[in-house]
Amino acid sequence: MSFDLVIRNGRLVDAAGESTGDIGVSERRIAAVGTELGTAAREIDAAGAYVMPGGVDSHVHLGQLSSKGDMTADDFWTGSRSAAFGGTTTVVPFAAQHRGTSIRAVVDDAMERAAAEMTIDYGMHLIVTDWRDPAPTEFATVAAAGLAAAKIYLTYDRLKVAGNQAIELMQAAGAAGLAVMVHAEDDAIVGWGRDARVAAGRLGADSHAHSHSRGAEWSGVAQAIALAEAAGASLYLAHISTPQAIDLVRAARERGVDVVAETCPHYLILDEAAYGDPIETAAPYMCSPPLRGPAERTGLLAQLAAGDIAVVASDHSPYTMDQKLPHGPATAFTEAANGLPGAELRLALLYTAAVAAGPLAMSDFVRLVAANPAQVCGMYPRKGSLQVGADADLVIWDESAWTVRWTDLHDNVGYTPYEGMQLRGRAGMVVARGDVIVDGAAATLRPGRGAFVPRD
Ligand SMILES: [Zn+2]
Repeated sequence: MSFDLVIRNGRLVDAAGESTGDIGVSERRIAAVGTELGTAAREIDAAGAYVMPGGVDSHVHLGQLSSKGDMTADDFWTGSRSAAFGGTTTVVPFAAQHRGTSIRAVVDDAMERAAAEMTIDYGMHLIVTDWRDPAPTEFATVAAAGLAAAKIYLTYDRLKVAGNQAIELMQAAGAAGLAVMVHAEDDAIVGWGRDARVAAGRLGADSHAHSHSRGAEWSGVAQAIALAEAAGASLYLAHISTPQAIDLVRAARERGVDVVAETCPHYLILDEAAYGDPIETAAPYMCSPPLRGPAERTGLLAQLAAGDIAVVASDHSPYTMDQKLPHGPATAFTEAANGLPGAELRLALLYTAAVAAGPLAMSDFVRLVAANPAQVCGMYPRKGSLQVGADADLVIWDESAWTVRWTDLHDNVGYTPYEGMQLRGRAGMVVARGDVIVDGAAATLRPGRGAFVPRD
């Protein structure tokens, strides 16, 4: 048998484990895994290097208008290009409903732009902020198009879906076979903390962290679990920042609730001490939930190793410094755009923090960045695996050390919160459905080469 592409002598690793051998690609899929495979039109020697499934980033904000009216700095093209350089071959962004708009229209619009701009394959989540007629009727149709998950927020005045609406939406998602992704923070605790700080004239970044407290996350997660349990929905908890919230997830799983948790590299690496600085210095680190302390990082790392956290996604939320600081140094914490960019560095950050210097095996790493995110989005094993028949999305991993410079990255944000940090490991070569799309610093990427991957 002759292949289109063979990668030889790699340390093949997926969530199932590790072996040494070759991968043969035909017609854009993995056609064979073994040793001494036959010839190919293109042969790549990966001797000594890990060969893993392409990363799946199940949480990125691209080409999305925030509830404050800020357009993300990355559209589907620049965001997917940036993710590709980091070893991610599938991203799942959001079609975002704003109150009073049709979910049918927002999904159509996002899908049209994604088809024109995406350079890697993609799924699509739907953010629901208004579950009144005609949303429930429209939902059945748009869900059937293969959406990965429906997302709701339990906080933020312009986004939150509460009480009966939340349960009804979760029931509808469960009936349609979609996961429900939840931004779980307690709205009362967050709002109370914010208003108290504003009233006291304390408008710095530390007040953002104060209002989005550890307790707000714990309470939000407890509430999300209870709602999903009542509705019989599959729950996907986004961006968990505290081990105490993960303890709730583990307890719920033990009693049979269908719930998985995600954390993000920034919660494993960066520190809340950043919020002690003036807002013009702290703004790049402002996100919700906020960064935490060393005890949380240690706890989350142990929970990653124990398998209590299913997914490490980037929550790539790209805003420029102008959007972070609309009034320069006079910007109040309530006015700063929230979120960190991180799609391109996701794999390198997790590898540095949890594999090179931490408790995770390489197969755990692949499970967290590729297999589980694919599973949650209904794309496994087509994505996130090295099984015969899977899409030929592959990364040859380069374990060397390097230093982060935003000028070497490929997003449109203008800075990185990780500037100057020394990391271990990066994607040396990236193959997407059989095409070598990134080879070191060189790439053959173009808008529109990515394909939609519907939920299975
Ligand atoms: Zn997000």
